[in-house]
Amino acid sequence: MTVPNSDAAALRHIVAAARPCVQGLAPYVPGARPSTVDEKVCRLASNENPLGPSAEAMATLREPANLSRYPDNDGHALREALSVRHDCPPDCLIFGNGSSDLLDLVACAYLEAGRSAVFARHAFVVYPLVVQAAGATARISAPYPVEHEQPLGHDPKTLLECVDETTAVVFVANPNNPTGTVLEDDEIRALIEALPPHVLVVLDEAYAEYRDPIPAAGRFLEYPQVIVTRTFSKIFGLAGLRIGYALAHPEVIAMLNRVRQPFNVNTLAQQAAVAAVGDEEHVTHSRAVNAQGMRQLLKTARELELRALGTHANFLTLDFGEQARAVVDFLRERGILVRALPEYELPNWLRCTIGTAEETRTLIGALQAWRTS
Ligand SMILES: *Cc1c(COP(=O)(O)O)cnc(C)c1O
Repeated sequence: MTVPNSDAAALRHIVAAARPCVQGLAPYVPGARPSTVDEKVCRLASNENPLGPSAEAMATLREPANLSRYPDNDGHALREALSVRHDCPPDCLIFGNGSSDLLDLVACAYLEAGRSAVFARHAFVVYPLVVQAAGATARISAPYPVEHEQPLGHDPKTLLECVDETTAVVFVANPNNPTGTVLEDDEIRALIEALPPHVLVVLDEAYAEYRDPIPAAGRFLEYPQVIVTRTFSKIFGLAGLRIGYALAHPEVIAMLNRVRQPFNVNTLAQQAAVAAVGDEEHVTHSRAVNAQGMRQLLKTARELELRALGTHANFLTLDFGEQARAVVDFLRERGILVRALPEYELPNWLRCTIGTAEETRTLIGALQAWRTS
């Protein structure tokens, strides 16, 4: 099927009429997917929980929800569950259609042409997208060198150096995707205190539940300029439902609520998230499987003399040098999907999600086969 013939000049005009910052945007490239729904592959390209969601979360999806009614716009049940879990007042919370939605709300509320946002090179790719879509400027800081103990991770010193009078937001992914590196709380506290007070610090903790110990989401609530984002897409295994949340001072939350679409989080996502929060055992088990897979993959990386980045999340990013593209194809032919990182300016590196024990064995076997091929 094709679109009906249209006037070529009219088409050019309407496309060129989009805002210049939007015309310059390169759309987000998702990780590889199986080519058909039935294809059995190791999906290690998108940092999803290989064990899937909690059985308790799944059970809520089988209960009849009244889908002819709009969702609860305030997410009361989830608000209650998370305010207990994080020991914070309920109005410190906001929910998003994935935590990417919350990053977008931050950009919408705090950025515009003439303002800038600061983040590190090799930080999560959604930051440049939301910044540019808001018409603002991205100021990108130099990461730590690859030899650092947090290889290619965020360097608070260079982040600070990028801040100027136009800066309204600093994005810090902790742990960062795709470097798997972290900043410790004292480093983050020092960063917050060194920044001018009008700069909003977005602490993106999508992988917090893989850290040891799991940091408390409300630990920076004393700072009104900090917003912490978390997601149900990673350890909670609910990426397909799209739900995330943020914690901040209620007045900052109120600003974000002004630009939030009503009913941005669907009913099923809210129900499943409440159950997921209550299933600590699933989180504990997922952490254990991840830690075990991480140890094994790291050991293989050492044996095969592949340089690895940080280990604080549910993926390991490995240096294949000039062969990175060929390795993607080699693994693809063996039914393994991993993430190439050209958009992250890491063309020689591949990000491998830690899978189930079986998937880890498959990946390790394939990497050994590649090394001896
Ligand atoms: C996966 C990820 C997210 C979460 O995205 P959702 O929109 O919640 O699915 C946020 N930040 C980082 C750094 C991520 O890697």
